[in-house]
Amino acid sequence: MSFLEKDVKYIAPTYKRFPVEIVSGKGSVVKDINGKEYIDMGSGIGVTAFGIADEKWQKAVTEQIGKVQHMSNLYYTEPGANLAQLLCNLTGMSKVFFANSGAEANECAIKAARKYSAEKKGDNCYTIITLKNSFHGRTLTTLAATGQDVFHKLYNPLTPGFISITANSVEELKKAVEENEVAGIMMEMIQGEGGVLPLDEAFVRTAEEICRVNDIPLIIDEVQTGNGRTGKMYAYMHYSVNPDIVTTAKGLGGGLPIGACLLSDKLQSVFSYGDHGSTFGGNPVCCAAAYSVLSRIDYRMLEEVKEKSAFIFDSLKNASGVESVSGKGLMIGIKTKKPAATVVSECLEDGVLCLTAKDKVRLLPALNIPKTVLEKAIAVIKKACQI
Ligand SMILES: *Cc1c(COP(=O)(O)O)cnc(C)c1O
Repeated sequence: MSFLEKDVKYIAPTYKRFPVEIVSGKGSVVKDINGKEYIDMGSGIGVTAFGIADEKWQKAVTEQIGKVQHMSNLYYTEPGANLAQLLCNLTGMSKVFFANSGAEANECAIKAARKYSAEKKGDNCYTIITLKNSFHGRTLTTLAATGQDVFHKLYNPLTPGFISITANSVEELKKAVEENEVAGIMMEMIQGEGGVLPLDEAFVRTAEEICRVNDIPLIIDEVQTGNGRTGKMYAYMHYSVNPDIVTTAKGLGGGLPIGACLLSDKLQSVFSYGDHGSTFGGNPVCCAAAYSVLSRIDYRMLEEVKEKSAFIFDSLKNASGVESVSGKGLMIGIKTKKPAATVVSECLEDGVLCLTAKDKVRLLPALNIPKTVLEKAIAVIKKACQI
């Protein structure tokens, strides 16, 4: 049995996979079982920030595996402490809780916001306002936070206490805050799964002000947009707002599972012993990987992300079959005249792996994708878009 056949036989069919069997890779190029090479413009959905089998990342991981791979959270280990310090230095936040995924980082954020608000305003203050078309994860609580009904069907009842309003509607936001006892407002700066849609600056600023005036924690979900993806370390930095809680995951570990929930000065004391936990959270190997990734996203790297982004926008903006290009940095959505799925399968044929998000082709290449490799991929994508 090939591993494709074995997978189909034994793995629960929650993913519609492309008929490609990947066996190895280096940087932004992966190879399938037949030796065919593909340029990876999805980087494992924004996870392999420095590509496949990056040498510095590998060294950080293998060195830590050689020391201690896991110790439980009953003892102190160094990688988590170093990573937490780096995250706080990069953001001005005060405390970090480590989880294993984006959804779990968001679970922590929701618990932190609810506990903070319950202590300050009483048990009835629990409603979290999120945005329509958002995506916050697949657990029953983060599904409740996700403002897309397609994901909810047949899983009811979801965790109560969530309402979603139209993105960029200040009016709906104000109304929701007036009519509910609100424990938190949660949003992605660029809706990723929702179609690579950046929020309006005025809306984000107003949301921050509403949060400040009403002492409501502002939660920014940077699971996809974080860690240099958009040309800033975190996407909220494009908006000059100060969130109370920031979550991140995907690119953070460069390919190992880690999520983080960052708490501002105001919320830093919300959790005490026993209030939250995770067996694998803060795993030393994952933390060493994440430290290696984050410490390499310096000013120069961010400039590089912006330059490559400008190249992609310039190349695609007026290309045949392209209606519009959205996003920031190396998080890009392309509205194509052909169905996005058709463009993606033509790219696959021609050796380029792309993603979709709603009706768009989505690109999330590795931050360090070489310019020449990127140029090749964009030429293929342009050809596939052509009508
Ligand atoms: C992917 C994603 C999540 C969920 O992350 P998992 O690691 O799959 O749990 C949450 N929020 C956003 C914005 C995401 O893009």
